[in-house]
Amino acid sequence: MVKYRVFVLKGGADSPKLLENLGNGTASVKTVQLYGKTVVLSWPDSGQPVNNPDIEFQTSIDGDFILSSMEWKMERTIVDVGGVEVGEGVTIAAGPCSIDFTEGVEEFAKQLKHAGANIIRGGAYKPRTSPFSFQGKGTDGLDILRRMGDAAGLPIVSEILDPDNIRNFNGVDLLQIGSRNAQNFQLLRKVARDGRPILLKRGMGNTYTEWMATADYVMGEGNGSVILCERGIRTFENATRFTLDVGSIARAKNESHLPICADPSHPAGRRDLVVPMALSSVAAGADMLLVEVHPNPDSALSDEKQQITVQDLEKLANSVKSLRQAIKV
Ligand code: PEP
Ligand code: MN
Repeated sequence: MVKYRVFVLKGGADSPKLLENLGNGTASVKTVQLYGKTVVLSWPDSGQPVNNPDIEFQTSIDGDFILSSMEWKMERTIVDVGGVEVGEGVTIAAGPCSIDFTEGVEEFAKQLKHAGANIIRGGAYKPRTSPFSFQGKGTDGLDILRRMGDAAGLPIVSEILDPDNIRNFNGVDLLQIGSRNAQNFQLLRKVARDGRPILLKRGMGNTYTEWMATADYVMGEGNGSVILCERGIRTFENATRFTLDVGSIARAKNESHLPICADPSHPAGRRDLVVPMALSSVAAGADMLLVEVHPNPDSALSDEKQQITVQDLEKLANSVKSLRQAIKV
C-alpha cells in the first residue's frame, strides 16, 4: 500500500518552497487549500521527515484515504449548512423522498420543523431503477423545496444528478450525491468545485475504504465541507432493503474528522424499521440523520413504503434526545 506524507503549512506559508525542498525526485505532489490551511500531499513517502520552517505539522499516512482521515486533522470538522452546524449534537434532515405534492407545502414544512427537523430534504431529480418510474419534478420540485425552506426558516438539501444542472440548485444549502453516483468521480469533482457543502452517500456496493476515498475526491478540489452518509449496503441479507452498516458508522467516527450522517430510511425499506435503525445509528456515533417523511406516505410516488409521518418523526426526535442523554454523547 502506498504511504503518503501529509504536510500542513504554517498560516500564510505557500507551497513552492516546500516543493523545492521535496526536490524533483520521484514523488508525486498535490497541494490543496482546506480549512484555511495549505495542505501538501507527497507520495510515495520515503519515511523521512522533511525539514522546512514553513511546515506546521507533518505525518505519514498509510492507506487509501488521506484528506478525510483524522490522522492529519485531529479536530472534528463542523460543516455549516445554511447556519446549522452539522457535527454539533445530532442534526435531523427530514422531508419527502421526492417532492411529489403541491398542496400545503408551507404548512408541511412548518410541521417538519415543529417535529424536530433542522434541515428539510426533498428530491427533485430522482435516480430511479426504472426509467418509466416517476423521475421527480425537476426545477418545479426545487421551487417547492425553496418555499418549504423559507416557510420553516430552515436550510434545504436535495440530490444533484447532473453537474450541468447546478444553476437550478441556487438556494439549495446542501448538495446530495446519491448512492448510485458515489463513485461518479467527474460528478464529485465538478460538484465539489461549487464550494457548497456536500452530503456524500455511500455507494451501496462500496466498502468502507472506498466510501472514505470518495470524500477525498471532493476534498481534493478544496471543498472540506463534506458530510459522509451511510445508507445501507447490498449483502446476502434481505430482511431489510439494504444492510445498515452501523459498524462502519462507528469506524468512520473514529477514523475520519468529517461528520457522519445515517440514512435509516433506505436500508429499512419499510416504515416500522426506520426509528430503531435511526436510533442504532445515533448510538454508533452518527452526527446527523436523513429521514424520509411524507405528508401522506402511502400516496408517495417513490419509496412510499419507507416514508414515515410527521408524528413518527416527532417520536424519533424525542427518542434521539433520550438516547443521547442515556449514552451521554
Ligand atoms: C434518496 O435519498 O432519496 C436516495 C435516492 O438515496 P440513495 O442515493 O441513498 O438511494
Ligand atoms: Mn428515497
